Amino acid sequence: MSDEHNTPGAVRSFETLAIHAGNTADPLTGAVVPPIYQVSTYKQDGVGGLRGGYEYSRSANPTRTALEENLAALEGGTRGLAFASGLAAEDCLLRTLLVPGDHVVIPNDAYGGTFRLFAKVVSRWGVEFSVADTSDPAAVRAALTDRTKVIWVETPSNPLLGITDIAALADIARTAGVKLVVDNTFASPYLQQPLALGADVVVHSTTKYMGGHSDVVGGALVTGDAALGEELAYHQNAMGAVAGPFDAWLVLRGIKTLAVRMDRHSENATRIAEMLTRHPRVTQVLYPGLPEHPGHEIAAKQMRAFGGMISFRVEGGEQAAVDVCNKAKLFTLGESLGGVESLIEHPGRMTHASAANSPLEVPADLVRLSVGIEAADDLLADLRQALGD
Ligand SMILES: *Cc1c(COP(=O)(O)O)cnc(C)c1O
Repeated sequence: MSDEHNTPGAVRSFETLAIHAGNTADPLTGAVVPPIYQVSTYKQDGVGGLRGGYEYSRSANPTRTALEENLAALEGGTRGLAFASGLAAEDCLLRTLLVPGDHVVIPNDAYGGTFRLFAKVVSRWGVEFSVADTSDPAAVRAALTDRTKVIWVETPSNPLLGITDIAALADIARTAGVKLVVDNTFASPYLQQPLALGADVVVHSTTKYMGGHSDVVGGALVTGDAALGEELAYHQNAMGAVAGPFDAWLVLRGIKTLAVRMDRHSENATRIAEMLTRHPRVTQVLYPGLPEHPGHEIAAKQMRAFGGMISFRVEGGEQAAVDVCNKAKLFTLGESLGGVESLIEHPGRMTHASAANSPLEVPADLVRLSVGIEAADDLLADLRQALGD
C-alpha cells in the first residue's frame, strides 16, 4: 500500500491513513506537506529518461499522485484517481465501462447532475438506463436485462437520504456479472467503505466532505480491481479531465481533518434531526440516524455514523419550504454540501431542478440541510427562528 513509507509498521487506522497516506515528506527539502507542483512538463535525463515517471501533468503530477494514493488508502482500494469534478469522474467511469447498446440501472433518488449525465448525455451515445428503487434489492434484480453492465447506487442518497444495502446489491451484481458503482459522497470513506462491502468502484465528489471547506471542485474514483484501475487511468489520461495541482492539494489538506469533521457533522445533525421531528411545522424528517427511518438498520450496519445531511418537509407546501430557506441566517442559502459551514437549500428549485418531470423529481415542500460543524445550539436556534418560533 501507498502509506508504507511513512506510517510505522502496519498502522491502518483511518485517522492515521488520512494524515499520512500519500503524504511523503518532499525528498528535496523534507517539507512535511507535499508541495503544489504547479508545472506542466518535466525535464528528462536523456530521451525517455523520466524522473519518477513524470513526463506531462495530464498523465501524472506529484501533487495529484499524493492525493490519489491517499484516496486509494482511505477507501481500501488499490487505485485512486483524481478528477476536475465529481461529474468528470463519473463521465470517465461511464465511458470506460460502457459501449453503445449497454444498459445501466440507476437509482430513483440521486444527485441531479448524475441523473442529467445519464438522461441527457450518455443516453445520446446509445446507452440505455432504467430507474429503480435501489433500497429494494428485488426491484434492482427485476430491472436487470441481459445488456446490463452497471448498477449505480448512491447511499445515503441525495436529497431524500435513502439507504441502499451495499452488500446485498454487491451479491446481485456479482451473480449477474455486472459492476456495482457506489457514489460515496454523502458518507465519505470515514463513515462507509463500499469496496469492503463488495462494490467494484467508488465515486466521489471531493468538492463535498473530502475537501470539506467549500473552496474546491473535484472528483475521484477508487477501485480495488487492478485491471479496471489501469483502464480507468488510461481513460483519465486519454480524456484529460484531471484535478489540477492546487485543487489536488486542497483536497489532500481537507482530508486530514475528515474524521474529526465527520464526527462533528454527525453529532450536530443528530441533534437537529431530533429537534425537527418534534417541531409542529415539520411533517417529515429524512435522516438515516432516526430509528423510524426505513433504512436505519442497514445504515447502522454499514455506516460508522449517519453523516451531516438532513432533508425535511414543511407544512404548507412549496412556498413554506422556500420561506424557511430564505429566513435562515446562520445556515447559508446555497447549493453544494459537506463544508464546515452549514447550508440550506430548496432542492426542487435549486440542486434538483434538472430532475423536474422525471422519475427523480423531488417533493416541492422539501428543504435540505448540510449541517456544518458550528456550535449545535447556534444552528438549532437559527432553524427555530426560520421555522417561525
Ligand atoms: C455534488 C455531487 C456530485 C457531482 O460532483 P461535482 O463535483 O459537483 O461535479 C455527484 N454526486 C453527489 C452525491 C454529489 O453530491
